[in-house]
Amino acid sequence: MSTFQRRAIGVIISCVCVSICLTAIVSSVAYGFVETRHLLIAVVVSTLVSIPATLYVTLQERRLGDALRELKSAHQTLEAMHAEIKVKAETDPMTGLFNREQFMKELAQRRRSTDRGTLLIIDADNFKMINDTFGHLAGDDALMAISEMIHTSVREDDVVGRIGGEEFGVILHHAGAENAPEIAERIRVAVERICYEPRRGWRHALTVSIGSAEFDNHSDTSELLRTADMNLYDAKRSGRNRVVLAEAGKAPLAPDVLVPNTLYPAAVTSA
Ligand code: GH3
Ligand code: MG
Ligand code: MG
Repeated sequence: MSTFQRRAIGVIISCVCVSICLTAIVSSVAYGFVETRHLLIAVVVSTLVSIPATLYVTLQERRLGDALRELKSAHQTLEAMHAEIKVKAETDPMTGLFNREQFMKELAQRRRSTDRGTLLIIDADNFKMINDTFGHLAGDDALMAISEMIHTSVREDDVVGRIGGEEFGVILHHAGAENAPEIAERIRVAVERICYEPRRGWRHALTVSIGSAEFDNHSDTSELLRTADMNLYDAKRSGRNRVVLAEAGKAPLAPDVLVPNTLYPAAVTSA
C-alpha cells in the first residue's frame, strides 16, 4: 500500500471517529441519550463526504509533487545550459583556450588582485606563409599544436588565452624577473620542438616570438599590454623565434624599416 493510500485511509477513519464523537455529544446534550441510528447516520455521512474529499486532495497532492519534480529537472537542465553557454562565451572554439574578451577580463582581475605577475604575448612567426603554402586547415592544425604546447608549458594557475588569429596571451601568476624569462624560453623551445607535418613526410618548423611585461597591482592594464606588444615587435624585428622581456616602461627600439601591412604602436613609430 502506498503512502498516499495509507494517508487517505487514515484521514477517512479520523473523519468518521470525529463525526461519531460530535454526534454523540450533540445527541446527549439535545436528547439526554445517544441514539444508535444517529451514530449510524454520522458514520455514513462522514464516510460519504470524506472519501471523495480525500481522493481529491490526494490527487492534487500527486499533481503538485509531479509539477515540483518537473520544475526541479527543468531547473537542473537550465543550470547545465547556463554553464555550457558560459563556457562557450569565454572559450575560443578552436583551441579551447580563453577567448580574447575573457583573457582581458582575467588580466584586469589578476592585475588588481596579484602583487606580482608577468604578461606574455606570443605570436606565431610567418604564419601567413604556412597558410599560403600548406592551406588553411594545415594552418589550423599548427595553431592547435602551438596552443597545446603553450598550455602544457605553464602552471595550472597561469591563464592562457587566444587573443588574436595567431596570437596568444599568458598571465604568469606570481612570476617576476627571476622566473618569467625561464618560463617564456620554455614555451619558445617547446613550440620549436613541435613535430609539425603539414603534409605526409614533410616537416615544417613552427616558431613563436614572445614579448613580456611585468606587473603589480598598481599597473595600468592598457600600459601593460602596450609594453608587452612593443617587446613582441622587438622580438619580431630582431629575427623572430625569440623572447624579449622587459620591465614596464622600458622604451622600445624604433624600427629601422616599417614592414608593409603591419600595425605598429604609435609610440614605436614616433620614437
Ligand atoms: P609575423 O611573423 O610577423 O607575425 O608574420 P605572420 O605571417 O604570422 O603575420 P601576419 O599578421 O602577416 O599573418 C597572420 C596570419 O595568421 C594571417 C592569417 O590568415 C593567419 N591566421 C589568423 N587566424 C587564423 C586561423 O584561425 N587559422 C589559420 N589557419 N590561420 C589564421
Ligand atoms: Mg604572426
Ligand atoms: Mg599576429
